[in-house]
Amino acid sequence: MATPLTKSLPNGLAQVEQDIARACKEAHRERASVTLIAVSKTFDATAISPVIDAGQRVFGENRVQEAKAKWPALVSAHPGIALHLIGPLQSNKAKEAVALFDAIHSVDRPSICEALAKEINSQNKRPELFIQVNTGEEPQKAGIAPGEADAFIASCRDKYRLVISGLMCIPPVNEAPAPHFALTAKIAARNGLKNLSMGMSADFAVAILLGATHVRVGSAIFGAR
Ligand SMILES: *Cc1c(COP(=O)(O)O)cnc(C)c1O
Repeated sequence: MATPLTKSLPNGLAQVEQDIARACKEAHRERASVTLIAVSKTFDATAISPVIDAGQRVFGENRVQEAKAKWPALVSAHPGIALHLIGPLQSNKAKEAVALFDAIHSVDRPSICEALAKEINSQNKRPELFIQVNTGEEPQKAGIAPGEADAFIASCRDKYRLVISGLMCIPPVNEAPAPHFALTAKIAARNGLKNLSMGMSADFAVAILLGATHVRVGSAIFGAR
């Protein structure tokens, strides 16, 4: 008998959910304390739809233009979707970013704060904001240096009147991620920030053990890019 063509099941999502549940249990944390952001960058609606159908509602994209091209149709077809911008933001895209995204994880310099504050006021829309910390102090990577983080967080609050939800980090690829997650958690704690966006496909379980509240998982759900 010929096998009918079916939509491929999002097996990756089931495995990731299982691994998150295990890490939460190990960390003595509630599953609900961790938000899974399914990172759908480079994947089109055909790949994303089965993951939505499986119940996933929070998605991450790293480019404003790409998200703008593919998400509005999916959002209007599926109520309750939340979109997170996880990639670097340019000031001239702040308007579109505030209009489209429910959260922005890449706040890292005064020009972005200024542009976001302006758009938040004029659009009267308040995306959840995370400050990106460049924990590895890598020159090619976005994010505020750890030594400048406290002052930057203070200026986001005092000068730009932004409500900051938490911190985000992307550890260097060739290093153990745990010290980077621990450093991010420490900076957040001393600044009274409760959310931590950290952990990707290769290391989200470690991140959960170190306090991640938001894990950004792409390839483990959607496959290789
Ligand atoms: C692409 C990306 C991810 C997801 O990476 P995977 O290794 O595919 O899980 C997470 N965070 C950021 C900032 C990304 O750009």
